[in-house]
Amino acid sequence: MADKRIFNFSAGPSMLPEEVLRTASEQMLNYKGSGMSVMEMSHRSSAYDQIIKEAQRRLRALLQIPDNYKVLFLQGGASTQFSAIPMNLLRSGSADYVITGHFANLAYKEATKYGAIQVAGSTQEENFSRIPTQEELQLRKDADYVYLCSNNTIYGTQWKYVPQTQGVPIVADMSSDILSRTIDVSQYGLIFAGAQKNMGIAGVTVVIVREDLLGFQLAGTPTMLNYQIMADKDSMYNTPPTYAIYILGLVLEWIERQGGLEAIEARNERKAKLLYDYLDSSTFYQAAAQKQDRSLMNVTFCTPSKELDALFVSESIKAGMSNLKGHRAVGGIRASIYNAMPMEGVEHLVAFMKAFEATNGG
Ligand code: PLP
Repeated sequence: MADKRIFNFSAGPSMLPEEVLRTASEQMLNYKGSGMSVMEMSHRSSAYDQIIKEAQRRLRALLQIPDNYKVLFLQGGASTQFSAIPMNLLRSGSADYVITGHFANLAYKEATKYGAIQVAGSTQEENFSRIPTQEELQLRKDADYVYLCSNNTIYGTQWKYVPQTQGVPIVADMSSDILSRTIDVSQYGLIFAGAQKNMGIAGVTVVIVREDLLGFQLAGTPTMLNYQIMADKDSMYNTPPTYAIYILGLVLEWIERQGGLEAIEARNERKAKLLYDYLDSSTFYQAAAQKQDRSLMNVTFCTPSKELDALFVSESIKAGMSNLKGHRAVGGIRASIYNAMPMEGVEHLVAFMKAFEATNGG
């Protein structure tokens, strides 16, 4: 295998900032003079206590999380939250779900096991190529929460507005766009995200939840899925995913060094613009998502044929890029350009696209 790193366009787990990998590697055998790796540390040790507390402090500072929100570091992936959310938040038994893609649909199906769940909007008939508008949403005033997925990893669409819900708390799956842009946490009741795209590695799922929503879990909610217990125990009811939380801390530190979320957002906008501007100027490539709702994180498009899509993917590997094959639900090509993808990677991709068009177009 070549010793050169590849531009990895994977939707997740995804590319990490090289500096994070270097620091983790330097600290691998002896973390800050402790004589051991973070992997070998007791989660109750003072060295580890500092790691988890610092990770939480940095996350709170970057996202400006208000004091009346708890930050939980949980296990089981984002998918476990599809069950934990209804179990913890369905205090009167109903919730509204907006279906904008595969993962929102999975969350909806899971929630129907626990209460009267309504589909408040869906763009399935348009193959999830856009986000419903506020006017299209059918929201109930007395629902316990409104559920949405802020960025649809597979289809390449992203919410550009926070819906008006008449005070009903919004629950958002931000697995594929958390920390990619500034958000106002106070507009949400609960935010959750698996770490393996924009925050680090698989193993830790972050839940940010408003305190007044806690304590209403359904009878029979497993202890491990009970937010109140996890909040009371500072995510230390049992052994937390120690190494994944350590990497999360390094990623947060890296984001600080980039200038925080404003700087990251501006860079993400420049990266996505380069790619979308080229897609729009080309008659060879076709973007999958509708313009107004295009994701800054996952760019989906196709060539004029399935054969050319396949050729594009195989040629891109030879050109030093990986994981550009689109998800089977959309087909074509998907370039995931999370925070860690440098501008240089997107420039490399666009140059490759131009050359591929010149050779195979017309
Ligand atoms: N939600 C979104 C938006 C995702 O993109 C994914 C995975 O790709 C998931 C949820 C599921 O995450 P996990 O594999 O951590 O359960």
